[in-house]
Amino acid sequence: MTPFFLTPLPYAEQALEPHISAETLHYHHGKHTAAYVDKLNALIVGTPFAKTSSLEDIVLQSDGAIFNNAAQAWNHAFYFEQFAPKPKHKPEGELAKAIDKAFGSVEQLKEQMERDAIALFGSGWVWLAADKHGELAIVSKPNAGNPLTKGLYPLIAIDVWEHAYYIDHRNARAAGVKALWKVLCWSKIEERYAQIGRNK
Ligand code: MN
Repeated sequence: MTPFFLTPLPYAEQALEPHISAETLHYHHGKHTAAYVDKLNALIVGTPFAKTSSLEDIVLQSDGAIFNNAAQAWNHAFYFEQFAPKPKHKPEGELAKAIDKAFGSVEQLKEQMERDAIALFGSGWVWLAADKHGELAIVSKPNAGNPLTKGLYPLIAIDVWEHAYYIDHRNARAAGVKALWKVLCWSKIEERYAQIGRNK
């Protein structure tokens, strides 16, 4: 029996201020994300997933409430891990080349992800993802949706659930998304891009 645990934040709750407040992280990580993990642990009791130690395997193999809570647990750990108090502000190397090829520039990638975040009706996620060849695409998913289920490799996650931005930005989703770029650490995204195909 392997219960899942809330992945600790890789920085202090106040470390991303003023771009993401300590109060937002306290609720978003400490309450919302913790609740997904707790709910998942409760839901898998007595199912074959109770013997699974890989959260990603549950995301890939489940549906319904187990999928929703497993994917939200996975998505949030991935989301919080991409930020840093002193981030690298621009991508370099192979990732930078792939972004220029697919979107023209990093600025155009950001603008497209912002537009897609605003256009996504209701709750969900906007992802930058790569295929196994490293070709990039922006993927919008409602609710707990995740590009892993399409065989893609997630690189950047933008959470557009209201709980991600409402404390700091109220209804201004676009402002909440723009703030994320200030703390997005491109060296972490480069690491994710370099891992594509290595562990499959
Ligand atoms: Mn969230």
